[in-house]
Amino acid sequence: MSRVGSKQGLREFLCKRVGVVVSSAELQQAAGGAVEWARRLRELREAGWAIRSHNDRADLKPGEYVLAEEPPKSAQAYAFSRPISKRIRAQVLERNGYTCQMCGAAAGDPDNQNPGRTVRLHIGHIVDRSYGGKDELSNLRALCSACNQGAKNIVQEPPRRVWLLTQLRRAAIDDQRAALQWLKQKFGED
Ligand SMILES: [Zn+2]
Repeated sequence: MSRVGSKQGLREFLCKRVGVVVSSAELQQAAGGAVEWARRLRELREAGWAIRSHNDRADLKPGEYVLAEEPPKSAQAYAFSRPISKRIRAQVLERNGYTCQMCGAAAGDPDNQNPGRTVRLHIGHIVDRSYGGKDELSNLRALCSACNQGAKNIVQEPPRRVWLLTQLRRAAIDDQRAALQWLKQKFGED
């Protein structure tokens, strides 16, 4: 099923079930079986749909979702989000050092949330589209899958220098060397 079709299916399904808890299996079915149903769901959230999961509400189990209120009626909410261009994507990743800007996971690191997989980075909005955030370089950042889906629902400040240096001094020599390698690579002094 096409991208548009799978999202439309999700919309219709959810609109008929405001306030009703639905399962991920039902949502995937509503999306025509599309494997990307979770991404379509996220796009609806970005467009201002009040879709809640266990990350937002303690009464929901993992895999349970609920559209908490009627979706927004604005045209913007129904507009399809355009994919971010490859060029901007590459620029954002480069600028962010191929590192998740929330938790610090790097592309290719082992993914703690998905054993056996490696971290994949996505491009996320700093100011959400639903709040008028644009697809501009200044409003975009690299996020790992978990942070992008709000799974690690914590706003993390970047570590402060004193703390960072303290941690580095405490670390094992091998880890200090790994940090040095990473910094050399990042700043092109390899
Ligand atoms: Zn992350």
